[in-house]
Parts: sequence; structure tokens; C-alpha cells
Amino acid sequence: MNVVVRSEYCPQNHPCPAIRVCPVGAMTQKGYAAPVIDKEKCIKCGKCVRFCGMGAITEE
Ligand code: SF4
Repeated sequence: MNVVVRSEYCPQNHPCPAIRVCPVGAMTQKGYAAPVIDKEKCIKCGKCVRFCGMGAITEE
């Protein structure tokens, strides 16, 4: 299982607030683009999945 960003659900028009909830700093964002999750750092805690109001972060 990996936690992934579905960029088609991300409006890509704001600094991603989910980055602040990640306990291990696994999420990065360039400009307002959809954030990227470093799967080597991600501990799959699910915090960003629950946090994102757009449903743009999911487990697959
Ligand atoms: S699942 Fe947890 S560790 Fe992984 S990117 Fe989301 S908040 Fe960070």
C-alpha cells in the first residue's frame, strides 16, 4: 500500500495545508502544484488522507 496524490482532484491553486500535518515531512510542493509524497519517507499514517478536504490524497 502507498499513499498517493490524485492530482486530478487537487485544485492546485493554494499552498497545500496537508503538508503541515505530515509528521515526517514526506510531502513537498512546488509552487501551487499538487504535492508529491516521498514514499521512502512516508510511514503511511493516513493523516494527510483524512485531512485533505478534496479527497485528493488516497491509499492505493
Ligand atoms: S500518510 Fe502520513 S507520513 Fe505519509 S505523507 Fe501522509 S501524513 Fe505523511
